[in-house]
Amino acid sequence: MLIIGGGISGLSAAVELSSRGASVLLLEQRPHLGGRTYSFKDRKTGDSVDNGQHLLMGCYHETRRYLEIIDSAHLAELQKNLRIDFIHAKKGSAALKCLALPAPLHVLSGLLRLKTLSFANRLKLLRIGTELLAASSVKESELASLTVDQWLEKCGQPEENRKYLWDIIAVGSLNDETSKVSALLFYRVLKAAFLGNRLNASLLVPRVGLSELLVHPAEEYLKQKGVVIRKGAEVQKIEGGRDGVMAVVCNRRREKARSYISAIPYFALQSVLVDSFKSSPSLARLSRFQSSPIITLHLWFDRTVMEQEFVAVLDSTVQWIFNKSALLGIQRKDQQLSLVISAASKIVNLPKERLVRIALNELSELLPHTREARLVHSLVIKEKRATFSPVPDVISLRPGTRSGIPNLFLAGDWTDTGFPATIEGAVMSGRKAVEEVFSLLR
Ligand SMILES: Cc1cc2nc3c(=O)[nH]c(=O)nc-3n(C[C@H](O)[C@H](O)[C@H](O)COP(=O)(O)OP(=O)(O)OC[C@H]3O[C@@H](n4cnc5c(N)ncnc54)[C@H](O)[C@@H]3O)c2cc1C
Repeated sequence: MLIIGGGISGLSAAVELSSRGASVLLLEQRPHLGGRTYSFKDRKTGDSVDNGQHLLMGCYHETRRYLEIIDSAHLAELQKNLRIDFIHAKKGSAALKCLALPAPLHVLSGLLRLKTLSFANRLKLLRIGTELLAASSVKESELASLTVDQWLEKCGQPEENRKYLWDIIAVGSLNDETSKVSALLFYRVLKAAFLGNRLNASLLVPRVGLSELLVHPAEEYLKQKGVVIRKGAEVQKIEGGRDGVMAVVCNRRREKARSYISAIPYFALQSVLVDSFKSSPSLARLSRFQSSPIITLHLWFDRTVMEQEFVAVLDSTVQWIFNKSALLGIQRKDQQLSLVISAASKIVNLPKERLVRIALNELSELLPHTREARLVHSLVIKEKRATFSPVPDVISLRPGTRSGIPNLFLAGDWTDTGFPATIEGAVMSGRKAVEEVFSLLR
């Protein structure tokens, strides 16, 4: 079995295949595995830095299973009850704090006590609750063509509810503007998080760098299972004809296998398919996909400027602030913060120094201790193609695991996982691709 791509979807497929005893060759173009999920040591401070802070959730059941298999589940902490602290430059702070009640009462207990919203507007949140509890089949078709803004409008959500609650959840999970992204995917995210088990809504917070949590343990597991991993191995062509893929061309060599799993992003797949494959109905649509960027600013201050482990920021360019020193258990005088800006297409091309200035300006209002502190180091990471943009027109074009080419199977966060481009979708897609391979072999 041959897997192209060593991001989380490729690793998930490799873990699944090897646990079923299959022999696997995994080809990854970069010198390291992890794809859009990786961490590295910062040269100046020696601290672990993620390419972008990732937040996982209790409802990431596939991811939690993957972490159990590769033996790293203990490196992320699941909140006992959902808690998100919000801060606002003018209004101060508030928290979404859920009580230990069965779902969905736990979320209700948090929402009804959320002080960023007036009491009358908190009651209007119940309308979203009734939508989530309605029969999925009816809602799914109703929401298929709507954007998040259109749905929230239909559900009578006032400006305050959007600005101080829904937008931060929607932008964080769908990574594009709420006027563009699919209401259907947002509805599924809310359902997955707020219904079912109480812990589905809890955040699963990594206590180590992303590579240490999701990548290195997987690599170790795969090596023990005899999986051959080749890094610096770029697939230049996927060749074949009517009977399917014959070989992939990698560093001028032809690699052959019985079945192939593509675990590369849509834009990469487009560029390696031979022309006859490009016209396969599910693959011909790849040109309609577009990506949306995420910017992460890693800032080191000479002193402690923030006490909380992380906060969501309302009404500002920066949407989340993570206190990396606390999360990674670093005990030093200085402090490392990671600031996240999703749906960043309007500002992604600004110079990095300008982005740092914008962030510092906002921080001086949000975290007053930064006013006296000295910024000792900064690192700005722009992931221009962080995720595909989940606009309603594209959602229906996401291909399933079958590519239409007999022995080529598709994985990746952009395939039809039912969810936005997330770690959970990536892990799920890898496992589903393997199930499909085995179902055809039976
Ligand atoms: C900044 C940022 C923040 C994010 N935050 C979150 C979050 O908070 N929560 C969450 O759930 N998700 C988050 N995500 C999304 C998550 O990281 C992705 O959904 C997931 O990593 C996608 O994995 P993948 O395997 O589908 O694709 P990728 O990670 O893109 O993996 C594909 C791999 O294929 C390789 N490849 C490409 N072309 C070839 C070729 N021709 N030959 C060989 N190899 C090739 C690439 O090098 C790459 O390693 C975030 C993403 C970013 C960028």
